[in-house]
Amino acid sequence: MNAHAAPGRRTLRQLRQDIHQHPELGFQEHRTAALIVNELRAAGVENIHEGVGGTGIVALIRKGRSQRSIGIRADMDALPLNDAKASAHRSRHTGRMHGCGHDGHSAILIGAARELVDTPFDGTVALIFQPAEEGLGGAMSMIDDGLFDRFQIDQVYALHNWPGLPLGKVAIRCGAMMSAVDRFDITILGKGGHAAQPHITIDPIPVAAQLVGQLQTIVSRSCDPTDATVLSVTRIDAGTAYNVIPDTALIQGTVRTISADSRRRVEQQLRMMATSVAVASGARCEISYHRGTPPTINSLVETDMLRTAAQDAFGVDNVEELSTPSLAGEDFACFLERRPGAFIRLGNGTDGAALHSPHYDFNDDAIDIGVRLWTTLARHALPVSGRSEA
Ligand SMILES: [Zn+2]
Ligand SMILES: [Zn+2]
Repeated sequence: MNAHAAPGRRTLRQLRQDIHQHPELGFQEHRTAALIVNELRAAGVENIHEGVGGTGIVALIRKGRSQRSIGIRADMDALPLNDAKASAHRSRHTGRMHGCGHDGHSAILIGAARELVDTPFDGTVALIFQPAEEGLGGAMSMIDDGLFDRFQIDQVYALHNWPGLPLGKVAIRCGAMMSAVDRFDITILGKGGHAAQPHITIDPIPVAAQLVGQLQTIVSRSCDPTDATVLSVTRIDAGTAYNVIPDTALIQGTVRTISADSRRRVEQQLRMMATSVAVASGARCEISYHRGTPPTINSLVETDMLRTAAQDAFGVDNVEELSTPSLAGEDFACFLERRPGAFIRLGNGTDGAALHSPHYDFNDDAIDIGVRLWTTLARHALPVSGRSEA
């Protein structure tokens, strides 16, 4: 039975566009969470836990006698962005937009719930609707609220729509899928004064300029060239006038790494370099280095499980094997640090806008593909005994 076409029930496409019109930022997904809970109840899911890690939801679908369980995550939050589209379902709120397709991910997981209540499997599927993926720590918030203590979840899975990947295709790899995301603030502390008397100041601007150049050598000279690493200085701020040498200069940036070794090495080098460049000019510096999301690492057995399920659902030719990770971040990584699992890209088509673009839109034709992926995975990961699905 195709549950999501049941009479009187809104289609997944309508739900997706409804969520798209009412985007909510991280930890404020109250309307979105209420919509999801209503839809889960209407689908016949009874075991629903709200308010997990803020606005998060965990819904359990149990079948058979097996103690095995899998968790499937969708994120719910939007971005602080103005929607530049002209479509009828564009955002109704200035400064808020589903620019990353989390509206689509949530609609897919609602669709999976509709199907899973009628799908034979043996064990528990935990549907995890996560708040605040966009840099606000929603995954850790759910973990801190007992996600893995209150609920038995042996493996975790998630998807992300991927503009540029053709509709109908998915892409995966074992090992690193996404990078760690760290950030830094370096404040050069000099001594300001009159621009006509530089000799009685300690000018922080040439120190900052020199340091920005030096920082570019960390990746090229201190990191293994086969281990993808990025250090980008993204902001410099100093001074207020033509004739004033400022007291301080600020440098900010982001560091993306895959391996723990490069992650440690970049921080160590950055600290050493900033301190020594400042000291060499008679200045001082303050460094704030913030370790954000860890790298997203797919485990071997679970990657095989998800790949096999995808091949079963869509055919071998529609499951691409990625050769390299993306250096964007994803806080599903926090779940993968605690449980084995896998993260997969879902084709959003080749002619739409990029993620986080004000012109971006989730491709509604990808919804049923995502639903099929999750229902096939449940059958593979939690097979009914005596039946081999693999
Ligand atoms: Zn995003
Ligand atoms: Zn996203």
